[in-house]
Amino acid sequence: MYFILILVILYFAFTIIAPPIVNKSKNKTLLSKPYQISASAQKLLASMDFVADLHCDALLWNRDLTKKSDYGHVDFPRMNEGNIALQAFTLVTKSPKGQNFQENSADAFDNITPLSIGQRQPISTWFSLVNRAIYQCEKLHKFAADYEHPFIIIKNKEDFQNLLNLRAKDRNVMGGFLGIEGGHCLAGKIDNFQKVYDAGVRMLGPAHFFDNEMGGSAHGVKRGGLTKFGFEVLQKMEEKSMIVDIAHSSVSVIDEILKNYEGPILSSHTGVQGFYNSPRNLADRHLYAIAARDGLVGIGFFSGAVKEAKLENIVKTIRYTADLIGIQHVALGSDFDGSVTTPFDCSGFGLIVDEMMKQGFSEGEIRAVLGENVKRFMLKHLK
Ligand SMILES: [Zn+2]
Repeated sequence: MYFILILVILYFAFTIIAPPIVNKSKNKTLLSKPYQISASAQKLLASMDFVADLHCDALLWNRDLTKKSDYGHVDFPRMNEGNIALQAFTLVTKSPKGQNFQENSADAFDNITPLSIGQRQPISTWFSLVNRAIYQCEKLHKFAADYEHPFIIIKNKEDFQNLLNLRAKDRNVMGGFLGIEGGHCLAGKIDNFQKVYDAGVRMLGPAHFFDNEMGGSAHGVKRGGLTKFGFEVLQKMEEKSMIVDIAHSSVSVIDEILKNYEGPILSSHTGVQGFYNSPRNLADRHLYAIAARDGLVGIGFFSGAVKEAKLENIVKTIRYTADLIGIQHVALGSDFDGSVTTPFDCSGFGLIVDEMMKQGFSEGEIRAVLGENVKRFMLKHLK
């Protein structure tokens, strides 16, 4: 009896002490606050009515996103400081031990299992990937409901238009949309697709770090193409005009999506091989193909995407991509809270504006990358 009691006490003590330590050590920033942003960059950022970021994994961690934290990368108050109108919240449900950009086995020990237990999540999420995804969707809905200002979860065009209208009057109004990072959370069952759609998911990337029931990962073992199930999910996505996210997908999966998928296409967080040649990053031919589909390339803020997580490299990657396929296809996809180190947290978007000004981008180009391209994409594709 005492033994069980001690175990329970130890569990609760562990779940209080461990998560912030893990969270802090996994999601660092390089620059210290207050961020040094020029007055002209600050002014330009403040004049933008729509700034967007295509990728963050903030829902994986047990921070209350309605409150400002001094660690991690994203919460609503810091989004507000960064003048962000729309943030994509992507759902990570399984992460292989020793995760790397070269090769990961689907059978490796899953790091999200101890995280789910250690963060005292509902037991239903401890061993079910789809439950983990749905739990994270529910968390965003709860944060949105609890926040002191309107926070709109975008599920259709009406929601998006509503966000634009309300935000035109009040900059405290913000929005988010839900995406899935890796179709393994569907566990090969099409019923699970409907469940995550009903929970609010409107973007899906077939693969994360390992090959799964939908198809190959760029960092998997076989790195094959789409499976029959993968095609089945894509067909459902197309019916609903959902966004397909090719980040992390194998070359074959990307090729098959570009050939077969008629709906909206983007890479939510990536680098480009022309600036930094890595299996994580997109080849020129894929960049051209995304542009030909009027898609978006969200440039990441982490070393795997831009070689070194520094402003200069992020903006050089933006420059390379814009020169190759046109500025209208370039966006930001930080990968905040994605177990990465970034130069700054989401309150520091003025730093990107500053660096873009330094590297000679025009005001119109900066506005396009910071948000106008995402706005146009959403208005075009949301149903
Ligand atoms: Zn990722």
